[in-house]
Amino acid sequence: MTTLDLPRSFTIREGDLRILNPFDEAKLATLGRVIKLAPGAELLDLCSGKGELLCTWARDHGITGTGVDISTGFTAAARDRAAELGVGDRVRFVHGDAAAYVPEQPVDVAACVGATWIGDGVPGTLDLLDRALRPGGMALVGEPYWRQDPPDAEAVTASHARSRDDFHDLPGLVRLFGGCGWDLVEMVLADQDSWDRYAAAHWLNLRRWLDANPDDELAPELRRELTEDPLSYVRFRREYLGWGVFALLRR
Ligand code: SAH
Repeated sequence: MTTLDLPRSFTIREGDLRILNPFDEAKLATLGRVIKLAPGAELLDLCSGKGELLCTWARDHGITGTGVDISTGFTAAARDRAAELGVGDRVRFVHGDAAAYVPEQPVDVAACVGATWIGDGVPGTLDLLDRALRPGGMALVGEPYWRQDPPDAEAVTASHARSRDDFHDLPGLVRLFGGCGWDLVEMVLADQDSWDRYAAAHWLNLRRWLDANPDDELAPELRRELTEDPLSYVRFRREYLGWGVFALLRR
């Protein structure tokens, strides 16, 4: 039987990271504060990863919520984290395809943070979030944008974009939200230091894993990644790519 899961290389690369995006803990906490979550608010987090958003916001703001993720390992880590923070009665984590998940009851806040491919881009992901939201509910979208125009194809590929048009610049993204019929009502942006906490943390995760698993079938590929990614990151992603979470209310 084949189960729906994420390729193993993702689990190795993320290692013990809890936030699987270019936010550090402080930025995730800032976002939870500035969107003024009401205690008891119900959240849905599509592609919830290791559940840090729901678990820490349940602890800090008394929200309840459901996370959906396709990775069995990340889902298990999210459940462990909920127990560790004492919020296991307020958040639950479902293993499955987030694109197909519809909550039984409409939620107050629906999030997709760093996974807009589930809706084939921002507009489609906003539609997925909208169908889960109560009238007046808030959508949260985490998305990359170009900080600077990528000069060539190398910069585009190194930024993990399929093409230049895969991402907008920040004004383009803000225009897109408006064009889709949403008010942008808050945003928290990553910076280069918080990007480092994500990108650079991968290197030690990869190196430790390579040392412990030299004969694994993934070793050559991940060895190549560790050799190449630091230079690629500082030349391109760190300079050209921004990332943020945008809070939106339907007009
Ligand atoms: N939102 C989390 C995780 C972002 S990483 C955080 O910010 O920490 C992207 C996540 O999307 C991974 O956890 C991956 O397992 C998940 N994912 C990718 N495709 C998915 C799908 N179709 N359905 C559910 N989860 C998916």
